[in-house]
Amino acid sequence: MTINLEQILQEKFGFTSFKPGQKEVIEQLLNNQDTLAVLPTGTGKSLCYQFVGQLIEGTVIIVSPLLSLMEDQVIQLQKKGVTGVIALNSSLNFFEKHYVLNHFEKYNYILISPETLMQKEVRTKIAKLKIALFVVDEAHCVSQWGVDFRPEYSKLAQIQAECGYPLTLALTATATPTVKKEIVKQVFSHQKKISEVIYSVNRPNIGMIVDQTTEKETSLIAYLTQLKSKGIIYCATRKTAERVNRIIKEETDLQTAFYHGGLSASERSLLQQQFVANELDILCATNAFGMGIDKPDVRFVIHYDCPDSLENYVQEIGRAGRDGLPSVAILLYRNGDESIHYYFQTESRLDRVLLNELANLPPKKQESIFPSLNELQQKWVQGYWAKEYTIEELEETLLRKEKERQQQLNVMLSYIKEANCRRTFIQQYFSEKNVEKNQENCCDKCGLSFDNYKAQIVQSPKEIEISEQWEDILIRLFKE
Ligand code: ADP
Ligand code: MG
Repeated sequence: MTINLEQILQEKFGFTSFKPGQKEVIEQLLNNQDTLAVLPTGTGKSLCYQFVGQLIEGTVIIVSPLLSLMEDQVIQLQKKGVTGVIALNSSLNFFEKHYVLNHFEKYNYILISPETLMQKEVRTKIAKLKIALFVVDEAHCVSQWGVDFRPEYSKLAQIQAECGYPLTLALTATATPTVKKEIVKQVFSHQKKISEVIYSVNRPNIGMIVDQTTEKETSLIAYLTQLKSKGIIYCATRKTAERVNRIIKEETDLQTAFYHGGLSASERSLLQQQFVANELDILCATNAFGMGIDKPDVRFVIHYDCPDSLENYVQEIGRAGRDGLPSVAILLYRNGDESIHYYFQTESRLDRVLLNELANLPPKKQESIFPSLNELQQKWVQGYWAKEYTIEELEETLLRKEKERQQQLNVMLSYIKEANCRRTFIQQYFSEKNVEKNQENCCDKCGLSFDNYKAQIVQSPKEIEISEQWEDILIRLFKE
């Protein structure tokens, strides 16, 4: 019996057609193939596992890095009338968590953070489930050390083994060959052959501009007053995000707020909701904002500071124009802006020195210093104490990551200083073969000018509809 996937899509999810890549991923999974899917932001990657979960018997486990993402997915599924969905993470209290664990088999979709997944009681329960599909969402996180260091990701293979290697899907929007290799190593270590569904990172509806300027504040305000639409401004630090927010408040009457990791989870969640609901025009944010955010009509992403890598830059600008309508990514660059990242790199060097010194202290002394370390350093030390690695191995990894970050920053600077097409630069960096050239509204190096392009961006979908109606009316008048 052949299954009509389109019909199911229509009946269960209310969509008329698949978005690029979705059907391929679903077909691979239905053929019992472990799959790595690299599809641009907004393609509807979640639908792939939601869909398969409806067809294969058993539970779908989704490992997801952020609380807000999990909540978002729970709501998405509930809206479709899908039942038995739960997010298992640190936001549940003791009793809620135990209720969930005691009724584990009645859930169809379990969204879980890597940290919660590693807890012994959770692992024992999961190992007893019949798992239809094991999903690692935002799979590029497996390869991140630095600020987002999540040692739990490196233990995913243990969980998969405990569950008897269920059918596995890894999802991400950005993967350079290096990151891809790391995903394969961490998520598919047990597999000789996996299916890869990989689509271009190129987002044709996002015009790309780098504005080299010494007057970033003035330029920013000038852009904002002309854009008159919803957007995100990325800053490298919490302090800058707050400062930029203040400047915009002083200089314009736009509704703006700042968002960063220093805010409480509930404050962040509220801001995200307000932004999605159009109660805010602008969010001035650090890179803590945006992963998995489902707002279709973000018209612009402006980088007030130099991003630390092209990988992150592409992820961040990808939050613009998910509805496919004309949008813009503007990077403001003042010579030397990258120095903020050298500062972060120095910090990471200091980490290495500190860890080395600590390891040479007697155990009691190590324990007494432990509380004074930051969260990340504590995780490293805990791994060392648990004998997951020696201090030399840890230092080596940190050093390797430091070098990688330096290289990534160099690539970012090459992008900024690129003399030719920026879109081509990005596609080549991601090792894409079929580079799309000569598209309309490409980048500043291909002749895209903000002044000419802005009218297309500010025109909201509503206005487009109205103008189409006007055209129709005119045609009718002419015919009469
Ligand atoms: P991604 O994880 O790839 O960034 P999401 O899974 O969050 O994207 O989905 C983005 C949006 O696309 C959601 O609102 C989802 O309902 C919608 N979507 C998914 N599949 C389709 C489809 N086939 N047709 C139309 N909209 C879709
Ligand atoms: Mg997603």
